[in-house]
Amino acid sequence: RSKQNGRGTFSFYASTLNDKLLAYRGLVEDMRRGLATGEFYLEYQPRFDTRGRSIRSVEALVRWRHPERGRISPADFIPAAERSGLIMPLGEWVLRTACRSAAGWQDIGVSVNVSPVQFHNSDVVELVKRVIADTGFDARKLELEVTEGVLLEDAEKARNALRGLKALGVKLAMDDFGTGYSSLSSLRTFPFDVIKIDRQFINDMEDRDGGREVVQAILGLGKALGLSVTAEGVETVRQLTMLTADNCVEVQGYLLAHPMPAERISGLLRRDAAVEEFGIAAED
Ligand code: C2E
Ligand code: MG
Ligand code: MG
Ligand code: MG
Repeated sequence: RSKQNGRGTFSFYASTLNDKLLAYRGLVEDMRRGLATGEFYLEYQPRFDTRGRSIRSVEALVRWRHPERGRISPADFIPAAERSGLIMPLGEWVLRTACRSAAGWQDIGVSVNVSPVQFHNSDVVELVKRVIADTGFDARKLELEVTEGVLLEDAEKARNALRGLKALGVKLAMDDFGTGYSSLSSLRTFPFDVIKIDRQFINDMEDRDGGREVVQAILGLGKALGLSVTAEGVETVRQLTMLTADNCVEVQGYLLAHPMPAERISGLLRRDAAVEEFGIAAED
């Protein structure tokens, strides 16, 4: 088309960029509308104890059911939400909804992903404080998952925010550990409680070229620093067996459970409780 209208490659690229901009604007408009009309919802993925095989907590994961385009992955809309600033109302909605649901799940915690943008452009401590007060949720059962990206932009601001959150009683997890830049020293210098090993490392465990040793090293690091470690993206029995043998206490992944609606979590917990009561565990 660009050759036909005689404006050469410039117009080709310009039109591509323009298309991208239009697509971005459309997405943002749709998100704004979707937020107002209830198109977003949460799923929760259980995080299991490898020893008791019981659910320790669940991770809240945002979902969007677009009226025309169907389900859109958070990987495809979170970046646009971050660029447009919509991550602020969206992030607040996620936190509030997760705390409200989890208030009905006794004994288990909930973790919520917090975007670096939300962290740096708003008072995240004030937000969490407000949501905890509004929902009556026990702060000690709330964990916030942040990626190393949070620490890059303004380390002092990040440190203060993380300290403020700790002071509320909230737990802090470093998500996707090992994929960023600042991992090792920041685990020591920022007040994290939990390391979540990125699923790529779990995926590599079955390779012969040291994949398992890398995971063992991270488990050792967690132990040395007094942090809990969660393995993300566990998909095979072999991975689970290796992780259990290597004393990894917490696992999450499709092998054990996919993300699911809140009602199914309630059902699972009832079944869990029944199993404990009648002492019929370790069946599977
Ligand atoms: P994440 O926080 O690292 O979440 C884990 C992702 O891995 C989820 O994808 C989950 O469904 C997926 N997963 C879990 N187990 C397995 C497995 O065994 N195999 C594979 N291949 N994948 C597994 P999801 O829900 O598509 O979310 C992708 C990312 O989007 C999240 O990565 C997180 O960074 C972001 N995200 C999701 N929900 C929120 C949210 O409410 N707020 C913010 N700021 N980000 C969110
Ligand atoms: Mg996460
Ligand atoms: Mg992760
Ligand atoms: Mg991720």
